Amino acid sequence: MARQRHGRREFFGLSGAAVAGAVTAPWIGAQPVAAAAVDADADLVVNAKVYTVDARLPRAEAFAVKAGRFVAVGTTADIKGLIGKNTQQFDARQMTVVPGFTDCHNHAGGDTLLYEVLVGNPFEVEFVTINSIIDKLRVKARQTPPGTWVEGFFFDDTKVKDQRELNRKDLDEVSLEHPVVVRHRGGHTSYYNSKALEMAGVNKSTPNPAGGTFDRDATGELSGRVTDRARNVFNRIGSRVTFNPQQIEQRERDGLAHISKQFVRYGLTTVHHEGGDLAALQQVRARGDLHHRVSYESSGKVLDGMIAAGIMTGFGDDWIRLGATSEHTVDGSFSERTMALSQPYPGIQPAYKGNITETQDDLNAWIEKVHRAGIQVNCHANGDVAIDMFLTAVERAQRLFPRQNARPKITHCTLITEDLVRRIKALDAIPAMFTTYAYYNSDKFVFYGEDLMKRSMAYRTFLDAGVHAAAGSDFSPGPFAPLMGMQGMVTRRGWDGKTWGANQRITVDEALIVNTMNGAYASFEENVKGSITAGKLADFVVLADDPHTVDPEKIKDIQIVRTVVGGTAAYQA
Ligand SMILES: [Zn+2]
Repeated sequence: MARQRHGRREFFGLSGAAVAGAVTAPWIGAQPVAAAAVDADADLVVNAKVYTVDARLPRAEAFAVKAGRFVAVGTTADIKGLIGKNTQQFDARQMTVVPGFTDCHNHAGGDTLLYEVLVGNPFEVEFVTINSIIDKLRVKARQTPPGTWVEGFFFDDTKVKDQRELNRKDLDEVSLEHPVVVRHRGGHTSYYNSKALEMAGVNKSTPNPAGGTFDRDATGELSGRVTDRARNVFNRIGSRVTFNPQQIEQRERDGLAHISKQFVRYGLTTVHHEGGDLAALQQVRARGDLHHRVSYESSGKVLDGMIAAGIMTGFGDDWIRLGATSEHTVDGSFSERTMALSQPYPGIQPAYKGNITETQDDLNAWIEKVHRAGIQVNCHANGDVAIDMFLTAVERAQRLFPRQNARPKITHCTLITEDLVRRIKALDAIPAMFTTYAYYNSDKFVFYGEDLMKRSMAYRTFLDAGVHAAAGSDFSPGPFAPLMGMQGMVTRRGWDGKTWGANQRITVDEALIVNTMNGAYASFEENVKGSITAGKLADFVVLADDPHTVDPEKIKDIQIVRTVVGGTAAYQA
């Protein structure tokens, strides 16, 4: 570690020079800004055990913040000269400071958290009973007119005390007059009662549509579980509680404000949002309730509008910036066992290889359109078959319309092969892989077995190959706590004590890079965030303990003491 003393002016000057040197003419990357007020005192000086995630100065004792950015990082003595009478000092010498965490894949459904029936715990491992689910939905049914949907959210089929599948008959106990659905938190399977199936005209002889299934029980009757695209028939039936436009906007805003508080509580300072109401997001920011930075991933009307107007990835500012597209789905789910594998799922009869939800031709056309528009493509591809389809489409688009530094994003990118890794590296594609799953969903990996798990959530393989592997919780499917994610990356051991794919373990330092720098790289913002470096946005987290020295099984329990975004405390324990 090079420790040199600098005068104040020199230090600020240095930060400007260092920043200028860091600009590698990114195609659309956010540009750093040198510290503005050269002679002013620092706003904030922090003393702590600092892990910067900056290879040029990995460890530091102190840093200074001015106008929302880091302006100096070094020893306590280095920084002392920047303390003036208006400088706030935070002495956290017993604590650890790391850059703010980034979650590169989050559905940010704050309105669901606030307003809907939650039949499982969104944030932690918690087992529930089927009776508790029935009871909660019965209460809802009593307040709901017959014929109108009664919905439960955040169900997890492997967090049920009863240790059996939820089924149609359970949900018939909720109501025979309402269509009832329990949505798996994974987002790819749902459980329906008899009324819903009847209203949709689905019976035991209904064939499975392309890209989905109506599951049957051992006797051939409908079990109530419906997967992926087979669920589309339910969109057309039943009424839903409706809200007027003002109510919808208010729910969106309150939901975003609510989830923003949750994010900073867990140390997230940047979150890649899968869509959501862009206007509400700006209103929440305007009223001062947006505590984290957003990389907004568009789809539908917003994406079409961007293409029509010539708005590319990178447009926006340090709080709300347009990032990649939202995930364009190519296959099914990892946690719900519908992702597309090149080999049959172990132990399932008849042989089942998961669901492909998009044809190669449609995928090619979509990727070409987005790529040509200067927008970062992003597809949901879990299984090796789907990842291959994605890469094939991107390789094709690059041949037709070569573009440097496109960083195509692969959401999940769960099951890899050597050939896929080589092609991912060649494209500088960004896998945004599951984070908390290694801990939270270890109870599901038995469905894949150790052989496949050695190639799943392959952080070790990707980092060794020089790929910018990033973290994507996929909340609501996975809890978003970055420390839970880091623990899983480091140990590969789940809540149930089982270890899967230990060959993919990475170190604490590597897990930090994944959750900070690589997240910044994923949205072309590595020059403005992702490390504690002079000139970058002052986003950081104060931890009560050092993840490098605590028992690795306790990383997730480290207390977040303070989360700071742009030099301002967004959360304080
Ligand atoms: Zn997702």
